[in-house]
Amino acid sequence: MKFAPFFADRGKRAFWIAGPCSAETEEQMLETAKGLASSNIDLFRAGIWKPRTRPNSFEGIGTQGLEWLNTVKRETGLKVCTEVVEEALKHNIDVLWIGARTTVNPFSVQEIADALKGTDIPVLIKNPINPDIKLWIGAIERIYDSGIKQLGVIHRGFSSYGSDKYRNQPRWQIAIELKRQFPDLPMICDSSHICGTRDLLEEVSQKALDLNYDGIMLEVHPDPDTAWSDPKQQVKPDVFSGIKDRLKYRQVFSDDAEFLESLENLRHQIDEIDDEIMSLMASRMNLAAGIGAYKKRNNISILQTGRWSEILEKNIAKGNQMGLSVEFVSGLLKAVHQESINRQHQIMKSKDE
Ligand code: PEP
Ligand code: MN
Repeated sequence: MKFAPFFADRGKRAFWIAGPCSAETEEQMLETAKGLASSNIDLFRAGIWKPRTRPNSFEGIGTQGLEWLNTVKRETGLKVCTEVVEEALKHNIDVLWIGARTTVNPFSVQEIADALKGTDIPVLIKNPINPDIKLWIGAIERIYDSGIKQLGVIHRGFSSYGSDKYRNQPRWQIAIELKRQFPDLPMICDSSHICGTRDLLEEVSQKALDLNYDGIMLEVHPDPDTAWSDPKQQVKPDVFSGIKDRLKYRQVFSDDAEFLESLENLRHQIDEIDDEIMSLMASRMNLAAGIGAYKKRNNISILQTGRWSEILEKNIAKGNQMGLSVEFVSGLLKAVHQESINRQHQIMKSKDE
C-alpha cells in the first residue's frame, strides 16, 4: 500500500486534533473552538453520532451537529473532523475518523469503504476495541481499496475486563507493530480514550511522542464536568493548551555527527549483547532437549512445577537486585520456559531411536 500524506509537516512537528467528545449545542462547539483558537491545532473534532456501549446514554446530536461544525469552520478557519457517517460527506467535513466500535466489524467497515468510493477525503482509522491487529489492518486495507490514499490511524487503547489504571489499555506493542509494518502510515494517539481521566493525559501523550507518534488527539470541553459524554477525561481549553505547550516532540533523526557516532557506538554494543543472548538461548535450549531425552528414557513428565517455581523466584529476586522489573523477568522466563517445553515435547513425540 502506498499512502498519500495528509499532513505536510510529518516528522517535523506533532499533528494536533482537539475538540469535544460530542457536539452538544452550537454555543458549546463555538466556545470550545474559540478557546482553542490560540493553540494552533490542526483539526477540530466533535462526535455527532455516538455509538455507545450501553443504551440510554447520550447517542449524539445528529445532522445538526454537522451544521455546527461548519459554523466552527466559518468562524474560526479551523479544519474539522467527525466520526464517519455517509451524511458527513455532504457537509464539507475535512477529515473523517472510523470509531473503535466500527473497526471491529468488517461488514460496517466495508459499507463505509463503499460509501467513500469516488471521494478523496482523508480518513483516520481507530484501532478496534479488541486487541486484534489483523482487524485493524483489515480496516486499513478495505478503506485503501476503496481509493482513499490519505490515511492515518488512531491508537485509542483496547478494552479489558476488570478495573485498570487506564480506561482502555494502551498495549503499546500492538501500535508499534502496526508502525513497523506500515511506517508511512501516520499514527495519532487518542490519549483521552486511553486514559479515561485527566491526570494521565500528559504522561500518556508524552509517551506517544517518545515512541515517535505523529500526533495527539485530546477531548476538550468548556465545562468538562457537565459534558454529555466522557466528562472525566475532557479538559478545558486552557488546560489543553498547557499540556500541548509542555509536551516535547522528538525528532526521529538528527544529523549531528557527535550524536550519530555515540548512537552508532551504543547500537554496536547492543548488537553484540543480542548476539550473545541468542547463542546463550540456543545453548540453553540444547540442554533442555538433552533433559527431554533423559525424561523420556525414564518416563518422567516434562513439567516439574517445583523446579519451575524455583527458577522463577530465584531469577525475579536476582533481576530485582540488578534493576530489572518483575514483569520483564517473569515475561522473559515464561517465554524461555515455553520454548524449552516445546523442545522437550518434540523429543517426547519423536520415535525411539
Ligand atoms: C470518540 O472519539 O469520541 C469515540 C467515540 O472514540 P472511540 O471510537 O475510540 O471509542
Ligand atoms: Mn469520547
